[in-house]
Amino acid sequence: MDIKQIYMDADALLEGHFKLSSGNHSQYYLQSAKVLEQPKTAQLLAEALAEQIRTSGIAIDTVCAPALGGLIAGYALAQALDVRYIFAERVGGEMTIRRGFDVKEGERVLICEDIITTGGSAMEAGAVVESLGGKVVAFAALANRGFCERQGGNVTRQPNCKLPEGTPFFALDDFTFEMYDPAECPLCKAGSEAIKPGSRGN
Ligand code: ZN
Repeated sequence: MDIKQIYMDADALLEGHFKLSSGNHSQYYLQSAKVLEQPKTAQLLAEALAEQIRTSGIAIDTVCAPALGGLIAGYALAQALDVRYIFAERVGGEMTIRRGFDVKEGERVLICEDIITTGGSAMEAGAVVESLGGKVVAFAALANRGFCERQGGNVTRQPNCKLPEGTPFFALDDFTFEMYDPAECPLCKAGSEAIKPGSRGN
């Protein structure tokens, strides 16, 4: 399965000149929500991810996704793994688990995101699950932005990866692309202007 092609076909991997939320510029932008707008594509991707997880032999009781980014990917993955699904959400900036969801003592939980950049939200959702007595046995995402090391991938862990070392991280592919300080951006130097993703409806 050519994951990057699926993203391209869904206009979820954009090529151009983008201003990222960090302030850096990039030639590419990953809009994971866009690849999930077709439920059949979401299902296809989730099944591929579930297959990796099943092959690893790691037993999962529950998938937990941090809202908002992980909601659809997490639900699709839970369906593919045929396990329970819950989500965590921020209240006043702090990650919480609400809505009557419980986590049982020792429950084996996988934290699922749409895309893992440094893994901050996933790590926070995992901390909440563990504070309630659950055990975070794995992390998963459709796409790895290349700062964390996924099972079977070619990218080595970078210092800014926030996922706990030693807990397996599954993703369908690495989407590693250069980010530039605006002052040193070759695209700016070539005379084009960076656009903010979303500003043209993407
Ligand atoms: Zn630029």
